[in-house]
Amino acid sequence: MEPPMNINVKDAQPGDAVERGIGAYLDEIVALRHDLHQHPELSFHEHRTSDIVATRLKSWGYEVETGIAGTGVVATLNRGEGSPRGEGSRQIGIRADMDALPIEEATGLAHASTNRGVMHACGHDGHTAILLAAARYLAEAGRFDGTLRLIFQPAEEIGAGARKMLSEGLFERFPVDAVFGLHNWPGVPSGQFGFVAGSAMASVDQCNIKIVGKGGHGAEPQRTVDPVLATASLITALQSVVSRNVDPQEMAVVTVGSIHGGSASNVIPESVALKLTLRAFNETVRGLLGERVPALARAQAESFGATAEVDYRRGFPALINHRAETDLARSVALEAFGAGQVVSDFKPRTASEDFAFMLEQKAGSYLFVGNGDSAPLHSATYDFNDAIIAPAARYWVRLVETFLAR
Ligand SMILES: [Zn+2]
Ligand SMILES: [Zn+2]
Repeated sequence: MEPPMNINVKDAQPGDAVERGIGAYLDEIVALRHDLHQHPELSFHEHRTSDIVATRLKSWGYEVETGIAGTGVVATLNRGEGSPRGEGSRQIGIRADMDALPIEEATGLAHASTNRGVMHACGHDGHTAILLAAARYLAEAGRFDGTLRLIFQPAEEIGAGARKMLSEGLFERFPVDAVFGLHNWPGVPSGQFGFVAGSAMASVDQCNIKIVGKGGHGAEPQRTVDPVLATASLITALQSVVSRNVDPQEMAVVTVGSIHGGSASNVIPESVALKLTLRAFNETVRGLLGERVPALARAQAESFGATAEVDYRRGFPALINHRAETDLARSVALEAFGAGQVVSDFKPRTASEDFAFMLEQKAGSYLFVGNGDSAPLHSATYDFNDAIIAPAARYWVRLVETFLAR
């Protein structure tokens, strides 16, 4: 994709050494990104990707640990007087995700997926390529004093990879003072950086509800307990949670995404099954949804003489950026790219991201990089914008050099 005129970072910051350094092998990185795109792998199956990442990092001089959470990779580079991990030495972690989605690609691109039914529709191939581009520069020419840790995470899409890496002692084995990550964002100008202090992405929980009545002949409803009618009432009532229970100044989403019940026009079924997604920006609202939704399901069912079986599954928490690290991350972008390329108070997103688990354990910040005018994430026609690799890699380099300043 051709980047829009207004994002030409080359013109904005002529002669930047990092940009020149990355520019020398940018073609190679773009080719690697296309290769990853052609060979997407589902969550926890990123074997080929993980091998490529580990091999490259080793060739650039990183100490590389593989097999964390199955296919996860952590690479370490110590540099300067404080290393390795001397008194007062600082350590920074940067994370990229590696997995793809079960989507049949419909872009028609030359480098489209060759793995049928699997697609990098969220740009994790791009995130991996960006971090590798930065990794190479930092190894060859990075000016820092301390410990750099690059975390290549599996299984973000199923919300399991970060948690598994943490449960396998990620930050005990590879300590960091702060951790950072990024996501490309369609609809935001290509190469523009967005920062959010505080809640940046929503929590996600799932609730499966089964309304159980008493089936029978559609012509004799008086001899049944109709779960379809009870469900219809419940779906309407559920929309009162956001409008009547949640503080109007807070964000919450209650979506009934699936409803299944019955099979014939003249039969009242035994039960109807619903699947809901619930989202919030903080634990208070999240907890409120967790109380009100099951309570309404039970009360509504009961009012019709039916019962509700509720299976509430907590997914992952809201992603909450730490203020000091977000201030630092923003200042690095402002210095490197200028105010025109930085949205200082990017709007929080109601999508979710399992980097939230890492930010529960460590200070840090998750930032956004505009992907330009592309199809949305998780769409079969989504295309990662290669024009953002260079500025985003340059950003990681500048962040590391600032965080681990000599
Ligand atoms: Zn995704
Ligand atoms: Zn993603």
